[in-house]
Amino acid sequence: MAPSLFPPQLHVFVRDWLSANNVLLRSADGHVLIDTGYVRHAPLTLALVASERGIGAAPLAWIVNTHCHSDHIGGNAAIAAKYGCPIAVPAREAPLVEQWDQKALLYDYCDQRAERFTVDQAIGPDTTHVWGDLEWRALAAPGHDMGALVFHNAEQRILISGDALWENGFGFVMPMEVDAAALPAARATLEMLSNLDIRVVIPGHGEPFTDVKGALERALARVAAFEADSLRVARHALKVNLTFALLDQRRLPLADMPAYFDRVGLYHDFNALFFRLPASDLAGLLIGKLERAGAVKREAGWLVPANPTAG
Ligand SMILES: [Zn+2]
Repeated sequence: MAPSLFPPQLHVFVRDWLSANNVLLRSADGHVLIDTGYVRHAPLTLALVASERGIGAAPLAWIVNTHCHSDHIGGNAAIAAKYGCPIAVPAREAPLVEQWDQKALLYDYCDQRAERFTVDQAIGPDTTHVWGDLEWRALAAPGHDMGALVFHNAEQRILISGDALWENGFGFVMPMEVDAAALPAARATLEMLSNLDIRVVIPGHGEPFTDVKGALERALARVAAFEADSLRVARHALKVNLTFALLDQRRLPLADMPAYFDRVGLYHDFNALFFRLPASDLAGLLIGKLERAGAVKREAGWLVPANPTAG
């Protein structure tokens, strides 16, 4: 067996693109779970946490979120209800959750679902937390989400990166015209991460990886491509969100897609800002691109994911 990348009290439940990975940090002082997946997968998340690789029948002390997008907080309410444990979120997002600002949090605005939960603690950047007998420094990681945090353990050189850095890229960012600060922040966050001592990254999606330098290079190259072409940023955001909606809803009726693009805020607003096309043309354009990329297919009047993922 390959030597483990992690100390024994740290376990990563690698999930899929609908549910972000869950990081369990076990300790006699109380177990902590970082990120809880998407709401539709909440029963599976509960089962994983209570499994042998999880905490079995023991209590959970805290839920912590890297950021409050739907695929990271979807199990918060169900897990907090089961364990009676408090929830900590990044300080910049706490008021958005308290107001349940579904546009700022990109829930109904992107046709995503989430179960409302209560914030018990707001975590500020540059604060230190002991979870799983390890000291974690919370660092601001704006870009994909302007309030996001990453957590760094200097001793084991582990980074819990959320959607700020993946092995191949990072979570979609807003175009300049929507948020002028987003892309510069994504670049600054990657530059900040390249100055940290990191042996292994636990990303929000995908397997943990150790080629940190390579991942940072790929991510910075993507930022540069985005900086050169705002329309590409906008198209990417829409494609990612449409693929996500298909993973969530399994299939969408093709005949309804123009109305869907008019109805769902993100598509409607981006079309008005960037594309200025009849909704049916924009739908056709994006679906065509996703089909050619092998992400979606048309099946008897339905748009379906080309590679449906389970779990
Ligand atoms: Zn995200």
